[in-house]
Amino acid sequence: MEEERELKCPLCQHNEFDKDKVVLAKYGLFRVTDYKANMLTCKRCKHIMLFEDGNTFFLGVN
Ligand SMILES: [Zn+2]
Repeated sequence: MEEERELKCPLCQHNEFDKDKVVLAKYGLFRVTDYKANMLTCKRCKHIMLFEDGNTFFLGVN
């Protein structure tokens, strides 16, 4: 299975990101403990996007 999605930064249209795992609970955004998401940080403008499996969303944390 090949899953390739062209992902672009909504701010600067750059398409290279640093990937990381984050636990959102430590930021106080969610009450669920150990809520994990993938964090992508734009290498150009440092815009941060958070992705939950199966339910994509992003947050801008500049
Ligand atoms: Zn960007």
